Amino acid sequence: MKLYTVGFIAFVCLSLACLFGFQTAQLDTPKRVSIIIDDLGNNLKGTNEIFALKAPITVAIMPLMRSSKADAIRAKKAGFEVLLHLPMEFTRGKKEWLGPGAITTDMSNEEIKQQVREDLDSIPYVSGINNHMGSKATGDERVMRAVMEVVKERHLFFVDSATSSRSKVIQVAKELDVPYTKRNIFLDNINSASAIHKQLRRLIQDGKQKGASIAIGHVGIQGLHTSGAIRAMLPILKKEGVQVVPVSSLLVKGEKTNRYQQAIE
Ligand SMILES: [Zn+2]
Repeated sequence: MKLYTVGFIAFVCLSLACLFGFQTAQLDTPKRVSIIIDDLGNNLKGTNEIFALKAPITVAIMPLMRSSKADAIRAKKAGFEVLLHLPMEFTRGKKEWLGPGAITTDMSNEEIKQQVREDLDSIPYVSGINNHMGSKATGDERVMRAVMEVVKERHLFFVDSATSSRSKVIQVAKELDVPYTKRNIFLDNINSASAIHKQLRRLIQDGKQKGASIAIGHVGIQGLHTSGAIRAMLPILKKEGVQVVPVSSLLVKGEKTNRYQQAIE
């Protein structure tokens, strides 16, 4: 075989190896983010604008409110994923602020389970739960165990909104082998368009770094800013090669360890 033939074959092999190697690397590391919008179910500001977004958004709906059911039906039609946004007791503030269907630490295990079941039954198409407030109740192992037993019984998952550094959500979810995940970024703690844009940029960076990242935004006072910023950011996400996925695509299941699981814990 002539030298240039050998050279040519080597060149082709190297090119193919590069091509497939590159493709494998691309497939190994899809960059994904999930955007959860909290506090639906009560026609708060920004609700219509959120439903008009052309992306698989996840909506977290408050239970037993006047639009809980209607919002879940709208979400289903829009191709959005639905979570029960479970009101849970927080450290500072009045219990009345939690609204109907709330879980408080003075409830018995059976009361908690009954309440979670009733809340779930008030919203169709629910695939998981995340907590509304909850800085006190998510830090209480007994309370979280009762909540998580219903999550398991209904074959759902739990997203820790991470409102407390002492949250027991992940610990208890692991214990009961319930699929879970955790919020990484709050989009709209500061209610201004530029601050929310900045947080969405952070979400993209975080997703690229870890392979996945989860953000929470809200309808309500900041609803128009939040929905507007997300709408403006969707083409940028696409350009950056970051895919928006329902939060159920970013779950950690049982003992399965992966890079993303390590990143969120
Ligand atoms: Zn909330």
